[in-house]
Amino acid sequence: MVHFVGAGPGAVDLITVRGMELLKKADVVIYAGSLVNPALLEYVKPGCGIYNSAYMDLEEVIEVIKNSKGEVIRLHTGDPSLFGAVKEQMDILDKEGIEYDVVPGVSSMFAAAAALKAEYTLPGLSQSVIITRAEGRTKVPKGQELSSMAAHNATLVLFLSSGMAGKVSDELQEGGYSKDTAVAVVYKASWPEEQIIRTTVGSLKEDMESAGIFKTALIIVGDVLDHEYEYSKLYDKNFTTGYRAGKDRS
Ligand code: SAH
Repeated sequence: MVHFVGAGPGAVDLITVRGMELLKKADVVIYAGSLVNPALLEYVKPGCGIYNSAYMDLEEVIEVIKNSKGEVIRLHTGDPSLFGAVKEQMDILDKEGIEYDVVPGVSSMFAAAAALKAEYTLPGLSQSVIITRAEGRTKVPKGQELSSMAAHNATLVLFLSSGMAGKVSDELQEGGYSKDTAVAVVYKASWPEEQIIRTTVGSLKEDMESAGIFKTALIIVGDVLDHEYEYSKLYDKNFTTGYRAGKDRS
């Protein structure tokens, strides 16, 4: 049995309880060594086989899975469903008739919100979050370029883009964000070396360069980072919900 497990954003105690239980019982762990905190590997039982997938290609990963006996953990950073390259592994396992399941994880986008003490969805400002990336060696489908995404004025969370700050800044401006739209960069959210930069669309490149941040960071863009907003209806004293009657019934 193979378990795709979200390791969380970095801090060892941000893996889920289910993920940790599986890790402790694993016979083989294949972890994404570029981003998964190796401290998680201290929890495996003696004799557990450990492989770092940063040095392996897809075929090699599958080979290890096929040759393993017992419980195999495929440990991915954050949540496996976001830029995790898990589907291609699952499709091969389906063909091979190998069973698997998936354990969700805390994505780095949520660790970043926690670091910023931010709420991605604020009434009157943004009720949508666009999770995307700048185009690099992996192409972005037509219509999903950053400049098109910018048109929605929603909260943007950019993965895999911190080495392209200049391009991000230009495309966001092309799409209609003003130079002074708020941006936050969170480097290694939840790790001891976590770092936050608060900047703007116009100053993003310069500020990331002077902080020396080119990888393992998220770029978050939008008015939710610094604007006035409306309070939610949920806790409004005059708003009736399934649990509570509003005080002003007129
Ligand atoms: N599945 C992962 C994302 C994998 S893609 C998740 O849910 O978080 C790898 C990208 O994720 C990195 O380039 C970076 O943009 C982001 N990332 C991963 N861990 C991070 C962290 N602790 N802090 C900030 N960004 C992180």
